[in-house]
Amino acid sequence: MQQGSYQIKLYFKFLNFLGDNLGLHEILGFSPSFRVKHPCGICWISFDDINNVYCEDGVTLRNAENYYADVRELAHNVTEECVFHKGTLYRVYKNLCVDVMHDIFEGVAQYDLAKILHYYIYTKKHFTLKQLNDRILAFPYEEHENAPPTLSETNIKKKITLSCREMMTFVRNFTFLIGDLIPEDDDCWELVLHFKTMVDAIMDKVSDENHPNYLKILIQEYLSLLNEFFPKSMKPKHHHLIHYPRVLKRMGPLWNLSSIRYEGKHRESKQISRNAICKINVCHTIAIKTQLKLNYRFLNTDSCDFKILDYKHSGNKIKVADLPRANFPESVGAELEQLQWLLLFNKKINVGDIIIDYDSPVDPLFYEIKFLLLTHSESTVYVLVQMIECTYDLHFRAFMFCNYVNKYVCFSDDDLQSFSIVSKYEGKIRISNF
Ligand SMILES: [Zn+2]
Repeated sequence: MQQGSYQIKLYFKFLNFLGDNLGLHEILGFSPSFRVKHPCGICWISFDDINNVYCEDGVTLRNAENYYADVRELAHNVTEECVFHKGTLYRVYKNLCVDVMHDIFEGVAQYDLAKILHYYIYTKKHFTLKQLNDRILAFPYEEHENAPPTLSETNIKKKITLSCREMMTFVRNFTFLIGDLIPEDDDCWELVLHFKTMVDAIMDKVSDENHPNYLKILIQEYLSLLNEFFPKSMKPKHHHLIHYPRVLKRMGPLWNLSSIRYEGKHRESKQISRNAICKINVCHTIAIKTQLKLNYRFLNTDSCDFKILDYKHSGNKIKVADLPRANFPESVGAELEQLQWLLLFNKKINVGDIIIDYDSPVDPLFYEIKFLLLTHSESTVYVLVQMIECTYDLHFRAFMFCNYVNKYVCFSDDDLQSFSIVSKYEGKIRISNF
């Protein structure tokens, strides 16, 4: 690498293996089956103890000493010494990787939400499966959300087999879908709220030094509550959660380690392979098509611009003098064009959405978007918002719209970068980390 007149040689250290649980076990020298006596690649937990251990404190973690003893005796699920020990500084017993996609959204959520729904529909009879499915179909999902399909009786009895993206939508909106049908004093609702809070903490994109300890408490509480309500129901994927706080501390935000991007790329490759007419060397075809696609992205000037701005004209013009008084800059002009929607950072913003300012010195400030406005020169989009007051609802664990405050503020599209913009559903503000 050339830095001014210096030539710098960079070395990279092989730090960690990322992948799904099965792939990692196969490539790192553990048995690929999870129905074995010691199913975890990070510790020695016994299959029978999974339901009793809710944090790492009580388990024997794999280390250099016990790993090489296991290699000699082929014990504790080790089938061979990891092949990557040869010629690298990488050591499998230090490998700290978890896969949120498969552990949570294609794992714990599928099992646990099925049990919770079964309890509410067939034991407590708070609502019927048809009622739930009607709500799943009618719910106003956001544009970027993958709407989940309706659920069958088999789903509820065994596990809810949704794709990762569908399950993310389902978990994000679960309390809004059924919350009003559940009595305030329902015990199992506490489990639902714990689950949602835990998933939110796991999916947090930023992490400070207190976050691992906070997550450890949330996971401990959730697993212990789960065992109370649905005894002996935990699978190895539930057990993986106890390692999350340590992985978070060492590797940073957990969603960055997820397999979801690799699975997405794998899907692309499979599609190319299926569509290829010539099957002589499919890997070569996939490599060329992937490179062409990457080149197209590099040549497309917008591809590296993170602020992708787009909007739809409504056709209506509005005089600034007719708008509520706000801090419009002088350069705004006398007339503005009203927009139907605004696309910023790939997120569609609509009138009625909520802007949250978390940097406020006391509590977060909430604003509702009243107008999306474009200047005559089409150089800037202004968002006229009205401040609102919100209360916190413990049953939904959500902020609820309370009333309007007679204060209007004008933000430019550049200002919006520092705020969180979310939608609301029946007055409940849909805040989520994922
Ligand atoms: Zn473990």
